[in-house]
Amino acid sequence: MTFNTALDSIKTYEAGLPIELVVREYGIKENEVVKLASNENPLGASKNAINAIIQAAQNAHLYPDDSMYALKEGLAKHFNIPNNTLIIGAGSDQIIEFCIHAKANHTSKILMAKTTFAMYEIYAKAVGAEIIRTPSHTHNLQEFLECYKIHKPAVIFLCIPNNPLGECLGSKEVFDFLKHIDSNCLVIIDGAYQEYAKAKDSNKALDPKALIDTFSNVIYTGTFSKAYGLGGMRIGYGIANVEIIQALSKLRPPFNITTPSLAAAIAALKDEEHIQKSMQNNLEQMPLFEDFAKQNSFNFTPSYTNFITYYFETPLDSKEISEHLFKKGMIVRNLTSYGLNAIRITIGTPKQNEKFFTLFNTYLKKK
Ligand SMILES: *Cc1c(COP(=O)(O)O)cnc(C)c1O
Repeated sequence: MTFNTALDSIKTYEAGLPIELVVREYGIKENEVVKLASNENPLGASKNAINAIIQAAQNAHLYPDDSMYALKEGLAKHFNIPNNTLIIGAGSDQIIEFCIHAKANHTSKILMAKTTFAMYEIYAKAVGAEIIRTPSHTHNLQEFLECYKIHKPAVIFLCIPNNPLGECLGSKEVFDFLKHIDSNCLVIIDGAYQEYAKAKDSNKALDPKALIDTFSNVIYTGTFSKAYGLGGMRIGYGIANVEIIQALSKLRPPFNITTPSLAAAIAALKDEEHIQKSMQNNLEQMPLFEDFAKQNSFNFTPSYTNFITYYFETPLDSKEISEHLFKKGMIVRNLTSYGLNAIRITIGTPKQNEKFFTLFNTYLKKK
């Protein structure tokens, strides 16, 4: 059978390896496997969110509220924005997909950083768009501006902070940059890790309300998968001016968010204490990973997220390291597929992190 030729250039997204695989392949007990590979919240979800999921199960036979009124109310209050500037997706991934389909086709160009979230490329290629990347691995707005002027892209992706490298543009420079962009170019600001950036440095905090009040061509995306600990519930959102939201809404399948997911997100949003605790754990543990890198002379980019990326030099090899750790029940993300000799490690609980340092130290001593 032949398929849409756009698929020929797409490499299937490599999701973080699941815990079950280590259990199956290496016979390590499930509760001994540590997964620091997908930037999930190591403290889990808010207890209130878990209770809301259990409660919601009572209504499993009913279709969910397709207006998503309660969650939109919660998010509107949280960000001080009107309800009609919101769209909810099955993960913010789905919002990104709507954006690409709404704005781009095989004649379009899409601009992004050299090393950034892999899904941007997949969605861009799916519509046959041409991908333009800035020369530097990390986000450099001067380079973005130069590429913008040359290529006139239909869509620009800014990942703030950036996955998988962890760097973070500042709010002021982003606003200055956006002033140079034509109002017909859609700028997607991916704020998947904004909660962490904001907790570390208020100059990095992006205010979605100020963004959409100032720029009619910007969409801010957020997710419940990272700081809110609800990756398994698949829920995210987009914030943009009404015109953009109305266009994206044409592409949204009905009932794209399940009842338990909606209930979980509403409860999670209200549990500020859980977010506080999660931020505190991250801020306390991140310096240990920086110290470990310094002790072993690994390069790293100071991270504004809940992960850190270590860069290696030969003879150290990221694939070998991640495979070694995997066999010991420690799952981290190898970044070979991004063309880097590097691994990305999610910041875990103190106990999980201790285990990572111990296993990695043992490996390094044997080298
Ligand atoms: C995790 C992540 C997302 C979205 O995840 P969903 O689970 O689909 O909400 C989006 N962008 C980046 C950069 C991410 O790391």
